[in-house]
Amino acid sequence: MDLLVYFLNKLKQKTLTAYNLRLETVININLKGCRLIGQCIKKGRKKYLIRLHGKLLKEFKQEYIKDVLTHEFAHAVQMELFAKSKPHGKEWKGIVEKLNGAPFKKSNINYQLNKGRAMKTYLYKCACGEHHISAVRHNKITRNIMIYRCKKCGEIIKFTYI
Ligand SMILES: [Zn+2]
Ligand SMILES: [Zn+2]
Repeated sequence: MDLLVYFLNKLKQKTLTAYNLRLETVININLKGCRLIGQCIKKGRKKYLIRLHGKLLKEFKQEYIKDVLTHEFAHAVQMELFAKSKPHGKEWKGIVEKLNGAPFKKSNINYQLNKGRAMKTYLYKCACGEHHISAVRHNKITRNIMIYRCKKCGEIIKFTYI
């Protein structure tokens, strides 16, 4: 998993530059079910275990690494620097921004397992709520092949950039 090591080293380098903080990490690719897509656990001073999901990693490699590893690694930095801050609060967001080198954007793509298959869904909105749209449908919509209306409110659903 060269890509994973490469990306992890980049995150560590950025953390060292931005916060003068050197973290030790163990990566365990042992998440299986659909409950967790990534997890970060403190193991000691400056030591963290990051758990990743095997199937999602295999299916969505680069995207998954960029999204989920950055998310979990930011938790490690957060726990080290702001032990009492909220899990996805402003401190964590600030760290994600530093690591990404870009303003914080909530991910509008969801990774999940559906009957054991790794899947990605896209978050769409209408007047009455949210819809999780499959990659196949999302591609049809973005190529203007299909328009989908919400069955409840009748409005055309739109991909959200949060
Ligand atoms: Zn989180
Ligand atoms: Zn609706």
